Amino acid sequence: MQRYFLTNEQDEQNIIFSKEDIHHIRRVMRMKEGDHVYAVFPDGRAAVVVLSSVTDTSVSAKVEEWLAQSSELPVEVVLACGLVKGDKFDYIIQKGTELGAAGFVPFEAERSIVKWDLKKGAKKIERWQKIAKEAAEQSHRNRIPAVAEPMSVTQIIEHGNMFDVKLFAYEETAKSGEMPAFYEAVSGLASGGRMLAVTGPEGGFSEKEAAQLRGAGFIPCALGPRILRAETAPLYVLSAVSFYLELKR
Ligand code: SAM
Repeated sequence: MQRYFLTNEQDEQNIIFSKEDIHHIRRVMRMKEGDHVYAVFPDGRAAVVVLSSVTDTSVSAKVEEWLAQSSELPVEVVLACGLVKGDKFDYIIQKGTELGAAGFVPFEAERSIVKWDLKKGAKKIERWQKIAKEAAEQSHRNRIPAVAEPMSVTQIIEHGNMFDVKLFAYEETAKSGEMPAFYEAVSGLASGGRMLAVTGPEGGFSEKEAAQLRGAGFIPCALGPRILRAETAPLYVLSAVSFYLELKR
């Protein structure tokens, strides 16, 4: 069953869909009155709704059954990932959304080969946000992760003040064999807590960035003994959080 994220406050007996979703419902899915879809409200509640009217210009629906289950992680994990080459950031956003990320922050790392192009930036963020929306629909999420404007390491440190746990996946920690920090960080997260996890670009963190993050209270963490690609590391973080907090009872 198709899933649509409603964009503003709604009367649950007269739900109005966005223009884009009206097009999808009418033209792509060719749905009719009486058909059912999932609708996710801005506050994250999801329901099975029945289409009460489908006209050339509008589609309305009403709630038939509220869904008690939420597919969200019990904690909020925001990923700040070093800008990477090609379309690897698209991949991080799509897979990270499936794995439950609450948000993404493109990180302008010193060793990022890709430099942020202000002229093309807005379009890029728009495209990434669309990827997040589509992945949230496909993976039956209760929210669409937000893609933020790019941040420098200084801005990330500032941003970290809004989180209960802040860490950076540091390859040098892995190489030194110090393994427990990430497990301790995840196991220390209470339900409803917020984690900011920073990962580096292909070239890794510069010594200066690592010192700045550590000095600001970001925990350097190993993600196991193998050196993961820049687009793999953020997904490891989410998978481990899900494993520990959703599968371990
Ligand atoms: N150029 C670095 C090197 O050769 O050591 C590798 C950087 S790695 C491709 C990109 C990012 O993934 C790193 O900056 C780090 O954030 C993360 N990463 C990869 N493997 C990791 C590991 N085993 N432990 C912690 N972080 C890791």
